[in-house]
Amino acid sequence: VAVAALIVRHRMRKTSKWGRAKAILKEFEEKCATPDAKLKQVADAMTVEMHAGLASEGGSKLKMLISYVDNLPTGDEEEVFYALDLGGTNFRVLRVQLGGKSGGIIHQEFAEASIPPNLMVGSSEALFDYIAAELAKFVAAEEEKFHQPPGRQRELGFTFSFPIMQTSINSGTLIRWTKGFSIDDTVGKDVVAELEKAMHRQGVDMRVSALVNDTVGTLAGGRFSNKDVSIAVILGTGTNAAYVERAQAIPKWNGPLPKSGEMVINMEWGNFRSSHLPLTAYDHAMDTDSLNPGEQIFEKICSGMYLGEILRRVLLRMAEEAGIFGDEVPPKLKNSFILRTPEMSAVHHDTSSDLRVVGDKLKDILEISNTCLKTRRLVVELCNIVATRGARLAAAGVLGIVKKMGRDTPEESGQETIVVAMDGGLYEHYTEYRKCLENSLVGLLGEEMSTSIVFKHANDGSGIGAALLAASNSLYVEDRS
Ligand code: BGC
Ligand code: MG
Repeated sequence: VAVAALIVRHRMRKTSKWGRAKAILKEFEEKCATPDAKLKQVADAMTVEMHAGLASEGGSKLKMLISYVDNLPTGDEEEVFYALDLGGTNFRVLRVQLGGKSGGIIHQEFAEASIPPNLMVGSSEALFDYIAAELAKFVAAEEEKFHQPPGRQRELGFTFSFPIMQTSINSGTLIRWTKGFSIDDTVGKDVVAELEKAMHRQGVDMRVSALVNDTVGTLAGGRFSNKDVSIAVILGTGTNAAYVERAQAIPKWNGPLPKSGEMVINMEWGNFRSSHLPLTAYDHAMDTDSLNPGEQIFEKICSGMYLGEILRRVLLRMAEEAGIFGDEVPPKLKNSFILRTPEMSAVHHDTSSDLRVVGDKLKDILEISNTCLKTRRLVVELCNIVATRGARLAAAGVLGIVKKMGRDTPEESGQETIVVAMDGGLYEHYTEYRKCLENSLVGLLGEEMSTSIVFKHANDGSGIGAALLAASNSLYVEDRS
């Protein structure tokens, strides 16, 4: 009898454990729901904020930054230009050889390095010295091959993927850091001046001829190969979008009207927020604990830096309240940002019948061994909820831009296609996320419009775009506009 009672108790504990876990899952799923009607509200709110941000400086959470790029590359650009790309986890130096009329990109080479984490939160000088030193190495390695004509300085496009208040095509001050960066003494400074000082210290002789956001670089790089590109979206560590706006539709711009009549706007959509966004208690807690509380709310639910962290927070609650990993809470699960998005993606894409990859990842990263199939399934289900919400909201963001451009209905769209140049590790590597984003936009636009908006992966577009913009803003090349 005693044994029977024990078994019954054990069974009851087991069912209540799963009952509790299921309840947490269900609540999370409901809070993350993004039915089409909600996405349309998000898109409309995005359009409204775009108008407000263009109307006046500080008019909206959406900064709608003027890029000073009023001419996108035509394909006529020539000669060798450099680019520096700083923004997420990696940092790149590129050399691009342009072929002029119809020559396209003759040659490109790059070097990549990851940013030592201590430099992301250290001093401005240390960060810029590191970048300039990498640049110096890259240039030194090819001194022989690529000498500049006499009296001509090398020129560089600087892709700096943080919100910048531009003061010209090649100057601008940092508004604030985002993603994992937090270096107080850079805020408010001209990042080109900072880079130039560091290049001087490192003995690099180069002129910065363009300062661009990665979205703007991607737009420029995308346009170079496809004239229908007029929106660029980055989904990587962070997220953001840029698009081509009519200069007349930017009330806060009081400079001369560009000849092209157009201006590229860096939206900084990562900082979008709206009461329509499906935010959960986990998101609020993650925000409070972040380097930038209250900022970049859209980014914190859509982009690569945060998806794995949201997942971790839900798993931790399930471990604490439902004991899904046994009686003890696995200590590693308490470490913030231990689950990175590439790992989450691997878990999400596990197609093996026993979810072996899920089991391995739980073991390798969190030191949780012997998980049962039911637990593994639960983890995959959570990945799906987190990724689906992010991807669908990103689709709503794109719809917001298309609406602002007045291209969301068949009459207005005319015959032309809008090509959205896409880049970033999340878009590139997380297949389920990418598919969900693309399908969601088709769903939102409707059958009739579904072929008039096309996504195109612009591989390394931001670096190439920066080199192209360095070319079109070169001191030595005559104005072709
Ligand atoms: C930055 C943007 C950038 C985006 C993607 C965001 O955190 O604020 O400037 O474009 O990340 O890299
Ligand atoms: Mg990048």
